[in-house]
Amino acid sequence: MCGIAALFNKENASMSVVEALFAEQHRGQDSCGVVSSTGKNLYSCFGLGLVRETFKEENLKPLQGNLAIGHVRYPTQGPVSILNCQPSIFEWEGKKIFAVASNGDLTNLPELSQEIKSENIPIEGSNDAEVISKYIGLQLKVKNKNIVDSIFSFIEKASGAYSAVLLMEDAIYAFRDPWAFRPMCFGEKDGTVAIVSESVALDILRIPLKGEIEAGSVYKISKEGFVKFDKRVEKPLRHCIFEHIYFSRPDSIVFKESVYEVRREIGIKLAKSDDVEADVVVPVPDSSNYIALAYAEVKGIPFSFALVRNHYVGRTFIAPEQITRDESVRVKFNPLPQFLKGKRIVLVDDSIVRGTTIKKLTKMLKENGANEVHLRIGSPPIRYSCYYGIDTPNRENLIASKMEVEEVRKFIGADTLKYLSIEDLRKCVKDPSSYCYACFNGDYPAGEKKHPSLVSK
Ligand code: SF4
Repeated sequence: MCGIAALFNKENASMSVVEALFAEQHRGQDSCGVVSSTGKNLYSCFGLGLVRETFKEENLKPLQGNLAIGHVRYPTQGPVSILNCQPSIFEWEGKKIFAVASNGDLTNLPELSQEIKSENIPIEGSNDAEVISKYIGLQLKVKNKNIVDSIFSFIEKASGAYSAVLLMEDAIYAFRDPWAFRPMCFGEKDGTVAIVSESVALDILRIPLKGEIEAGSVYKISKEGFVKFDKRVEKPLRHCIFEHIYFSRPDSIVFKESVYEVRREIGIKLAKSDDVEADVVVPVPDSSNYIALAYAEVKGIPFSFALVRNHYVGRTFIAPEQITRDESVRVKFNPLPQFLKGKRIVLVDDSIVRGTTIKKLTKMLKENGANEVHLRIGSPPIRYSCYYGIDTPNRENLIASKMEVEEVRKFIGADTLKYLSIEDLRKCVKDPSSYCYACFNGDYPAGEKKHPSLVSK
């Protein structure tokens, strides 16, 4: 998961891209970068860490021009390093030709890399955007195709997830994989066009949302206007359902649906299929707040923020190293014992990945006086790895891939445990057939091998 942003026809476009990236900071916190164009040259700035730490007035000053693209990175391919920062710049004969920023993971990266290397173009880093930019550059400079055909050649060859923007000297191109795994939308106002991962970035720029970048199509934004080149590869839509459950901000419209509304529906469905008796509903903040609130309303049980989150610690799920994650759990949440003492608690979380965080939180609630902890999860058990941009590569780390629900409950130490069913999850979105559920059922839309579950079901 990463965040992208692009601005066309905006004075100091790099500044506006930074504002958009700031709104998308939750999508990646390890590195960020911006590339701008004056119409003649490309200028870039990269850094490890958060947007507000990287981009200061003085280092944005050289990024002139009214076109720019940017990226916040959450590493799923390759380590955190300046070499792996995006946008990735394609150079040819000593000149910067274009830059690419992408969100998602390619599933045939080795095959694409091999084709690039066979033309004596080296791959220096280990991230998708470099492969995308060099594959397109190869089509443009070695195979002598025009830029639109070069992008389509990439779409025809690539497998997996990518929502990408490409900056040339005088134009921005936007393209998305034919399944449209990751979100990507655009807005327009007074001739300024913005392309972003989440609509919340348009809100901050005060640019109204106009629509989605369509799956498999290529868009060109230039002085000639906004031109769409129709898709040449047809696949069924498979949006990532986890964007609604966890990743996207609740104030975003993603895949044409309000994230807030979907999370409320999840809470309602969880409550309607639950007969547990309890005194208070407590969310694991922040992504399960709206799920828990809707759950409490339907059940008629008081709601309490009895776990307080320190917002200056990164998301535990998003932290790339296990050590960081374990340490961050302890400093991330603090309980309020006065709301827990002697109470039967319904603890609501959006998902269970490894089970380590929720186990510690359950213990914390009991140590602070809770009589019972009933765990309710706003998604089905995660049994399969994601290959489309989420950092769950090793199935051994997914607790539900090796344990049945009752074993998971025992491991966590909860009194009861209930997950949302896939059937109920499908009812929470407007068009359930347009979503990917592979991490629950192993049906990988881009044709990856279906692995047997580690537990018998
Ligand atoms: S496998 Fe899961 S996390 Fe990955 S794209 Fe599909 S629904 Fe999203």
